[in-house]
Amino acid sequence: MAFDSLSSRLQMAMRRITGKGKLNETDIDEMMREVRLSLLEADVNLKVIRQFTNNVKEKALGQKILSGLNPGQQVVKIVFDELKRVMGDETVGISYKASGLTTIMTVGLQGTGKTTAIGKLGAFIRKTEKKKVMFIAADIYRPAAIDQLMTLGKQLDIFVYQEGLIKAQTIVKNGLKYAKDNLYDVVIIDTAGRLNIDAEMMQELIDVKEIAKPDEILLTVDAMTGQVAATVAQSFHEQLNTTGAIITKLDGDTRGGAALSIREISQIPIKFASNGEKMDAFEVFHPERMASRILG
Ligand code: GDP
Repeated sequence: MAFDSLSSRLQMAMRRITGKGKLNETDIDEMMREVRLSLLEADVNLKVIRQFTNNVKEKALGQKILSGLNPGQQVVKIVFDELKRVMGDETVGISYKASGLTTIMTVGLQGTGKTTAIGKLGAFIRKTEKKKVMFIAADIYRPAAIDQLMTLGKQLDIFVYQEGLIKAQTIVKNGLKYAKDNLYDVVIIDTAGRLNIDAEMMQELIDVKEIAKPDEILLTVDAMTGQVAATVAQSFHEQLNTTGAIITKLDGDTRGGAALSIREISQIPIKFASNGEKMDAFEVFHPERMASRILG
């Protein structure tokens, strides 16, 4: 299960503190040490950990918590709020156009689960918003990527616009015209992913962005890569001004370092979580629910 190891460690620290009737500063220091170690083990970015522990400590010591009623529970609430805060506090959805075609461009490194996420997002939007969705296959460097999207499209009964391996910008331009002419509500564009961020890939994405003028640029980040996901997100955001992240493979992530670092480091809100290989293993990312899941 997602966050299992982080969860059990943090819960242990919380149980210890709620088990005490009275708390003093040493108890808080001990708990903070445990929290810090849990976050380190979860592969959370150091800057995030520092801010997290400073905030918790300041609040726990600063508001007459220790002399108040149920100090332990109040401290747990402070930790909970801080977990929620680092994951973005509020749920952020897709900004749909009030009328006409909403364009969503997806970006991400190869293997992060971008194609899978496109399928899931398309099915999700169709189901929850009752919108007519279409895909554009513009990952032109791997023929397999187009095939994979075509297969998904067939499986989900979602139309895939493709022209083979010609210039991505041309495919996107023609695909968007097709979508408008055929009165689609939402188009999701697949773009080239590489194993590493490189200047050529970024330039192509910038060019596609220019043509598509997307309402959303969603970045897929692999939860299994821990805090690296956050620095990758930061690079993408600097170049493309991304509007949201889809955190993928959350089902395999017991640590949580990616989910807890992405927002703070890259400023990108996590909008969705992909948590399995099945097409319906996809959900809106709720910071509050995630924090509850972690603290149990
Ligand atoms: P892309 O190269 O970014 O388009 O990545 P793919 O969508 O092809 O996914 C790469 C691999 O990760 C495939 O084997 C997927 O089945 C798998 N995958 C994608 N999303 C998830 C997920 O949320 N959970 C799990 N467990 N596997 C996933």
